[in-house]
Amino acid sequence: MTIIALLKRCVYAMRMSAQLIDGKALAASIRQALAAQVAQMNIQPNLAVIIVGDDPASHVYVRNKGRAAEQCGIASTTDSLPASTTQKELLAHIDALNKDAAVHGILVQLPLPKQIDANEIINAIAPEKDVDGFHISNAGKLATGQDSLVACTPQGCLLMIQQQHDSLAGLHAVIIGKSNIVGRPMAQLLLNQGCTVTVCHSKTKDVAAECRRADIIIAAVGRPLMVKADWIKQGATIIDVGINRLDDGSLVGDVDFDSALNVAGAITPVPGGVGPMTIACLMNNTVKAASLS
Ligand code: NAP
Repeated sequence: MTIIALLKRCVYAMRMSAQLIDGKALAASIRQALAAQVAQMNIQPNLAVIIVGDDPASHVYVRNKGRAAEQCGIASTTDSLPASTTQKELLAHIDALNKDAAVHGILVQLPLPKQIDANEIINAIAPEKDVDGFHISNAGKLATGQDSLVACTPQGCLLMIQQQHDSLAGLHAVIIGKSNIVGRPMAQLLLNQGCTVTVCHSKTKDVAAECRRADIIIAAVGRPLMVKADWIKQGATIIDVGINRLDDGSLVGDVDFDSALNVAGAITPVPGGVGPMTIACLMNNTVKAASLS
């Protein structure tokens, strides 16, 4: 973050009404708790990450995951495969990791090159090692209220929402976005908590009107500053999943953070909100997978 951006944020912090939900701090406390848990285990959890191709952003994410694993006492390996990797080769790689008893968690970094069918790859991972929580078996268990490895981003969002509300029962949550990795599992998690859930998407007629009725808004679209202050009910909790890079290089979320501060009860910043929580929840899933192995 530049000094100007930092100063700007300090000025807003002085005049804002909303509480800032500090994902970075919460993620650090989760990693600390996991490290203590790992120290008590008689096996060391082991995460295998596969990355295919040279996408720079994906390589940054993978490095951050490796660093978080180290902080938690989790062993991790990264297999970097060339962009030309075929479906068959990737499936063979996953098969070997599935059969390796020393590996507890397998993560295939998305997106994958065009020649690869991501759904087939995700569903080839042994469900008990699927620490991203994307396997159809884990998604199905979540949808039917059974214990599972839960997708990391919605899991992190829920933890942040629970910091603000003792009980979610009866609250109205509006999720913008219905992707398999964020919107849909988020809806299932909130339903399981007793929320009334509305899921908006590109065909929703009036997203703003839906949002105005929400006690909780989760924005997961990928459109910079889409959610404006006048979409937000006074005191609502706002979780901004979006990560958008502007032409000047700065990162913003899907929520117009500066104006939302004056209306929301609590809000996550971008960066420093959902992102670090996603990685902390990946570590949580890895420790869970190792504990159940
Ligand atoms: P995605 O697969 O592209 O899904 C975007 C969703 O937004 C779709 O369901 C789409 O609707 C909906 N949408 C698009 N335009 C809309 C509009 N005008 N009004 C209402 N809904 C609209 O994206 P994703 O993977 O879920 O990610 C969403 C954002 O979160 C991205 O910015 C991504 O980078 C970020 N993200 C962050 C993290 C993190 O850890 N912080 C993790 C994952 C994703 P349709 O389905 O109808 O097309």
